Amino acid sequence: MLFDFPDFDHHELVLFGRDADSGLSAIIAVHSTALGPACGGCRMWPYASEADAVKDVLRLSRGMSYKNAMAGLPLGGGKSVIIGDSRKDKSEALFRAFGRVVESLGGRYIAAEDVGISVADVMQMGQTTRHVAGLSSGHDASGDPSPFTAYGVYLGIKAAVRHKLGSDSLKGVRVAVQGLGNVGSNLLRRLAEEGAVLTVADIHADAVQRAVDQFGATAVAADRIHAAEVDVYAPCALGAVLNPVSLGELKAKVVAGGANNQLATAEIGEALRQAGILYAPDYVINGGGIINVSAEVTQSYDKDDVLRQVERIPVTLTEIFRRADRDNRPTSDVADEMAREILTAAKQGKDAKRVAA
Ligand code: NAD
Repeated sequence: MLFDFPDFDHHELVLFGRDADSGLSAIIAVHSTALGPACGGCRMWPYASEADAVKDVLRLSRGMSYKNAMAGLPLGGGKSVIIGDSRKDKSEALFRAFGRVVESLGGRYIAAEDVGISVADVMQMGQTTRHVAGLSSGHDASGDPSPFTAYGVYLGIKAAVRHKLGSDSLKGVRVAVQGLGNVGSNLLRRLAEEGAVLTVADIHADAVQRAVDQFGATAVAADRIHAAEVDVYAPCALGAVLNPVSLGELKAKVVAGGANNQLATAEIGEALRQAGILYAPDYVINGGGIINVSAEVTQSYDKDDVLRQVERIPVTLTEIFRRADRDNRPTSDVADEMAREILTAAKQGKDAKRVAA
């Protein structure tokens, strides 16, 4: 029963979409529209079970509510997953079918890129729905959000290093980047430019080889990167990488990366604090991409303005770090509390307006 899923958090809507002709199996979750239409990426992944896909979309959509709230965007939280292998199962028919499912929600959910989904895929979804963003052409098209996500993550790593290690520069700072896809590869370039010492891992050997060749990175096994002898661990692949097993093996003093849902459970936030590890809450540090997408959704795309908003991310993070230090609380709890306050105020404001109308 969906309501019994531990990750079910009073989501407003969960929609299951199937299309026999194209082989589409998808789920859309809208967590909250208190701040505006729900907006969040679509992920394509070969989930081991439908239950895993449901769990992922529930967690990811709630994370989007918090992310959009903390980035100050007029967007609610939603996310979608397509069950399938992005290297084998993509087709135009599949994305057109997915677009029709999105369209059926009449704008309550707006889809964009996430793991396994490219700008070209979103363009194909756009053939059957208006409710997509992160497009490469058209009015206010914002394109690939990943470079903006990576820029925010880079600035967030600098803020965390400054707070925890007292250094203003990343020169010589050892950073382990897990996942060398759209976000990870853009992040690597920025870290390399500043002289960080890089360790990398990916499940695809070609991505690792590129990082070694281009940036002189040291490659380690994908299942050992969390344990690398580094100052900063930057998860940029999938979620739940901070769990009781990995926690015991972490050497880094800072965890700051682009992946969503890095904490396997909320309790890991406290365990990190007790271990003296500074954690940059994922949905705050990785908000750059949705800030870029938001400018397209609100039809006000201005790259300089987007960059200025992304540059607020380290300011918000530093505020979270300070509050966490002051109150001896995990950074993840402090961020959750700040996000919930914004969402509650928005919901109450909307309710009050409805009653007055
Ligand atoms: P992507 O699909 O381009 O890249 C993900 C990479 O991780 C791939 O290269 C994949 O091979 C690798 N990977 C998967 N499992 C791995 C493992 N166990 N160990 C090492 N590598 C592994 O996706 P992306 O767009 O770069 O997103 C990466 C993360 O950042 C995701 O968690 C995503 O939700 C999050 N995120 C992305 C954006 C964005 O703008 N793209 C925005 C916010 C958050």
